[in-house]
Amino acid sequence: MRIQGYETSIQTSPQVGEEMRFWRKPLDFDKHKIPKGKVIVIAERCKACGFCYEFCPKDMLEESDQRNKKGYKLPKIKEGMEDDCIACRHCEDICPEFGIYIEEIEEEGEDEEKEKKEKEEE
Ligand code: SF4
Ligand code: SF4
Repeated sequence: MRIQGYETSIQTSPQVGEEMRFWRKPLDFDKHKIPKGKVIVIAERCKACGFCYEFCPKDMLEESDQRNKKGYKLPKIKEGMEDDCIACRHCEDICPEFGIYIEEIEEEGEDEEKEKKEKEEE
């Protein structure tokens, strides 16, 4: 790319690839469980601003054809991504209308498993 006398080149540094090879999982990765969430949209509050689907880190929401009474198109979960919510609640935080929230899904036997692990560590 040339900008009035400056010459720049955009290249991928060979070092980047090399560094990434040495990335590792956190040492206590196995002790943590990625939570699962259920997405709930409060239809009458939504103004179709799109923040929730623009900023979801899992990119699992999109605009649907379903409209609320005011005519705003509601967000929906993308096909095939029904189980992808990690309950980060970013959509909840970012929605200016308080129109979306998450219910964390507890899997069966999760509490017993946690207690067992804690006892093992003692
Ligand atoms: S909780 Fe996080 S992952 Fe789930 S829909 Fe909201 S922004 Fe996406
Ligand atoms: S951020 Fe809230 S108001 Fe905006 S589209 Fe999502 S649910 Fe609707």
